[in-house]
Amino acid sequence: MIRLTNIEKRFGDLTVLKGVTLSVAEGRVTALIGPSGGGKSTLLRCINLLEIPTAGTLRIGQEELSFRDGVPPAWREIQRLRRQTGMVFQNFQLFPHRTAIENVMEGLVTVQKWPHERARERAFALLQKVGMAHKADAWPATLSGGQQQRVAIARALAPSPRVLLCDEPTSALDPELSGEVVEVLGRLADEGTTMVMATHDLRLASRIAHDVVFLEAGQVVEAGSAQALFTQPKHDRTKRFIATLT
Ligand code: ADP
Ligand code: MG
Repeated sequence: MIRLTNIEKRFGDLTVLKGVTLSVAEGRVTALIGPSGGGKSTLLRCINLLEIPTAGTLRIGQEELSFRDGVPPAWREIQRLRRQTGMVFQNFQLFPHRTAIENVMEGLVTVQKWPHERARERAFALLQKVGMAHKADAWPATLSGGQQQRVAIARALAPSPRVLLCDEPTSALDPELSGEVVEVLGRLADEGTTMVMATHDLRLASRIAHDVVFLEAGQVVEAGSAQALFTQPKHDRTKRFIATLT
């Protein structure tokens, strides 16, 4: 479903991703773990092209794009790949002046040019899916963090992306509130949603990840099944890092 080949990202003199290669099969959930500053967020941003890689190839579904430093891809090409992904951020990033349902409808109406009523119906169905239909007309500021994140998940799913990208989706939440987000993401995983998520949350990763990639200093140190990586990490650095997770 997704294949990254030798993805590199430089910011000036700083090389943040040093040739990352990984694949995610359809219906699988990959957790990206690793120390802060290791490049997890940058990698997710490169997959949805919020950042343009400086080298490498990105394939999502049938769409593929290769990158060369200083040669920005055409906007149309970027849009073509970006449409394949939905993104959930640590801090929810809902539009504050839109109600919950309007947040979910926004991309359908403005980007995909859906008729208003049809967009509202789909948005309502997605809010039901994340257990937020009763708050459809609420303003984001009146919702708890867990509720805001569930709306943000519905919004990311609205355009039917091939892959859901989540950047530390529970780390801004208290344990009780993160539980409801873990539950929603777990249900999506059980339904076969393809996901890549950066997380420090061992409960989240062990509940839903099939595969784990340990990223440190812009390189994949170790990758494998969640079971193997959490119970029998091969590398000392992976072992030490996993011991710090709670
Ligand atoms: P992680 O999510 O694993 O904590 P990040 O991807 O946020 O790591 O950051 C990796 C490195 O890239 C850090 O050193 C960070 O300072 C740097 N970085 C991220 N974004 C930018 C940017 N826009 N410009 C310059 N450096 C950046
Ligand atoms: Mg990060």
